[in-house]
Amino acid sequence: MTPLEREIREIIEAEGPMTVSDYMQLCLAHPRHGYYVTRDPLGARGDFVTAPEVSQMFGELIGAWVAAVWQQMGSPAEVHLVELGPGRGTLMADALRVARALPEFRAALAVHLVEISPALRARQGQTLAADGPIQWHDTIEAIPDGPAIVIANEFVDTLRVHQFVKDSDGWHLRVVGIVNDKLGFLVVPGPMPKEFNDESPAAPNGAILELRDEGPIELLSQRFLQQGGAALIIDYGHATLGFGDTLQAVRGHRYADPLIDPGEADLTTQVNFGELVVWAQRNGAATHGPITQSEFLRRLGIVERAARLKTKATPEQSADIDAALVRLTAPDQMGELFKVLAIADPKLGVLPGFDR
Ligand code: SAH
Repeated sequence: MTPLEREIREIIEAEGPMTVSDYMQLCLAHPRHGYYVTRDPLGARGDFVTAPEVSQMFGELIGAWVAAVWQQMGSPAEVHLVELGPGRGTLMADALRVARALPEFRAALAVHLVEISPALRARQGQTLAADGPIQWHDTIEAIPDGPAIVIANEFVDTLRVHQFVKDSDGWHLRVVGIVNDKLGFLVVPGPMPKEFNDESPAAPNGAILELRDEGPIELLSQRFLQQGGAALIIDYGHATLGFGDTLQAVRGHRYADPLIDPGEADLTTQVNFGELVVWAQRNGAATHGPITQSEFLRRLGIVERAARLKTKATPEQSADIDAALVRLTAPDQMGELFKVLAIADPKLGVLPGFDR
């Protein structure tokens, strides 16, 4: 039994079953035993590989996107470039390399990383050692005021969700309890209050609804409205509301049972981009997309970028560049499951990559 499972069982024994949302939060972010707190999960020897780790092209194109958005903002003398959950710092390093080609733009950037993991903060510090001052923050709330451009790749999928199960008398909260001496899913017997059931979409009995915490999107939307800026959110998920249990554990590049060995596997749920759009617009921000990652990267010129890199590459490097292009854009790889959404100050107009 992992130390975290022991602690979760103690909480359940003392207080009763816990929400899936609290379970996710403990598994990922428990201050001593949380998955992200205790390790660097990325890469071939870790548990999963992300787009910036597949190819430098990903971060470079995002760097060019940030530069174009900065120009659209009127080239402010100071802008916060913020990354949420920056992993190994690879995306930021690739983006800043592009920025160096535009000295006025680079000089305007103050770099902020929002990261809970001490292990990954150390790694980010190494990756970005030559990139000037960097400020780390525990939360989005802690980012200083001012215009900001925010990047979040595979961050939103780690944010906690509540799950609800539909029954003939309404939606019921899904919880984690102890069943036959193991962690198991249970459903709270009483239905959710009337208002919740009135506002929730119609669904057949047995359907599962996932609702993420609106807080981070609300905060960013209000901030862009008042102080200017935009966020680029890239993640795996669906464009419209769907029903189903998408809670997924990944360990050593394989799917695992989310209730076995808590704290030892990555735990995520698919992002419902339709929900993010509603929250952003409700708070006065403009939204662009979602479009597929393939479409977004192609519009930013990934095919041309790959061709240019290959002119200076060995045959082996050329093959790697081709493989990365396929991995990032092919429909059966990351191209279609991953979506891209921008949330922005409405004064900015249409943002690069979303203009068709
Ligand atoms: N963006 C990176 C890493 C994705 S993994 C990439 O594409 O490679 C998720 C990242 O979010 C990790 O850096 C993890 O430590 C961080 N993270 C997870 N939950 C977080 C939270 N609540 N607050 C801040 N960072 C968090």
